Amino acid sequence: MKKNITEILHHLGEENIPFGSVTPPIFQTSIFEFDSFDKFKEALSDEEGHYLYTRGNNPTVNIVEEKIAALEHGQKAKLFASGVAAISAGVMAFLKSGDHVVCVEDSYSWTKTLLEKYLKRFGISHTYVDGSEEEIRSAVRPETKLIYLESPTTFTFKIQDLENISAFAKKRGIKTIIDNTWATPYFQNPLDFGIDLVVHSSSKYFGGHSDVVAGVVIGSKKDISHIFKTEFLNIGAVPDPFASWLILRGLRTLHIRMERHFQSTMKVINYLSEHPAIEGINYPFYKDNPQLALAKKQMRGGSGLFSIKLATKRIEDVKAFTDNLRIFKRAVSWGGYESLVVPYAVSHKDLSEDNVSIVRIHVGLEDPEILIDDLERALKRMMKR
Ligand code: PLP
Repeated sequence: MKKNITEILHHLGEENIPFGSVTPPIFQTSIFEFDSFDKFKEALSDEEGHYLYTRGNNPTVNIVEEKIAALEHGQKAKLFASGVAAISAGVMAFLKSGDHVVCVEDSYSWTKTLLEKYLKRFGISHTYVDGSEEEIRSAVRPETKLIYLESPTTFTFKIQDLENISAFAKKRGIKTIIDNTWATPYFQNPLDFGIDLVVHSSSKYFGGHSDVVAGVVIGSKKDISHIFKTEFLNIGAVPDPFASWLILRGLRTLHIRMERHFQSTMKVINYLSEHPAIEGINYPFYKDNPQLALAKKQMRGGSGLFSIKLATKRIEDVKAFTDNLRIFKRAVSWGGYESLVVPYAVSHKDLSEDNVSIVRIHVGLEDPEILIDDLERALKRMMKR
């Protein structure tokens, strides 16, 4: 039975915490001892089921994993040192030379680098698709072993139909993985739609304070156990106990923060949608989004990340807008307290008249009226040029 969020955050995984400590301790140890030869040998022969060495299991890490697995409606989770490590492990654990991957073209840049630069060296090919079911169906080949989704994507905010794509993949025996970092399990549970594995950058909303880097993969016991015994132990991108504890602390307020991000983002978007300097808005829950019905079918709400298209084709205007922001910070990543901007022209090389004026915005937890004032001033300065 699925547990509610209070049960998950209060008790789950915390049964063996000593001294009545309300907050789970940070087990900052690399090794664990055994009181007999037999127990020592048993642990070495089954590292997944024992505390032996923190490169395998650690109690603080395991508490976080149990909670995240439950939040995502999965059987098991494995935490990693970063989102990229979690993505790489989740992808690589199910591929071998000669296999083919179908991947959404607007996926996170380092996911694409994994396919383009790394897996290519091992004879694994890929095809990029726009994310529509038709393109995915036609890209699949007999040797396709994996369909990689990111819904929504985190610059263009395109959505894939999780239910239909996973039903199609299951019939063909193809594994499906989704990057669910944007929505978080608070707003979207892809495993409920039949997706096999969910990956997250826990550096975003799980941590929630821009102070930790971590990642996680969630799925069936069988798949996570396979990932543990292969990529996790071999590549060794191990989560640090303190970083894991910061994720645990972040999770306790995930639901409150996500509600606030959603409300503030809708307020900011309502303001921007009326502004003459704004040509377009990309956000799943924006009233004019052609994929709004699908967004509502798959997600209970949205996070604080979206993009706008400024009504200009000149990079100088984009600079004027960006440089005149006082509250919004010019910084990568997202998911913390702070509101942030990333102009497309800063993060991408394929600049054209069409994309040069795209700016990604993260609406943080500040007062939304102050954020709107900040945008108003920067847009005014840009228009005065
Ligand atoms: N997935 C998405 C959508 C991201 O935006 C990021 C990071 O920016 C990652 C994955 C990678 O996560 P990390 O930075 O924790 O390695």
